[in-house]
Amino acid sequence: MPQTSHPLQIRDLNEVGRYAIGMHWSDGHESILPLDSLRRHCPCLACGGEAAQQLAEDSRRLHQLIRLGEAAVFLNWRDGHETIYTLAQLRALCRCAYCVGEPDKPITGA
Ligand SMILES: [Zn+2]
Ligand SMILES: [Zn+2]
Repeated sequence: MPQTSHPLQIRDLNEVGRYAIGMHWSDGHESILPLDSLRRHCPCLACGGEAAQQLAEDSRRLHQLIRLGEAAVFLNWRDGHETIYTLAQLRALCRCAYCVGEPDKPITGA
């Protein structure tokens, strides 16, 4: 994937409904990341990026969403699990048309 010379930052971070979080990046990009996907790709040692096949309801619902400075986001799940994503890891999970390799389609909408 393309590398940028300057570190990415998040301008806005918020919960989108009950099942996703939305991010507005410093480069103007916007991502909607489903919580289910975030939990499945949890990079902690216990999960290793491969969570259980079937996630319980409490395992994909957020208790807390906290920015950790400029470089990471902390997710505290209803089931007590804790996940820390770096911004680069979050950006890598974006599945918008642009990020999955269709740069000819501009990001539209808000
Ligand atoms: Zn984990
Ligand atoms: Zn994207």
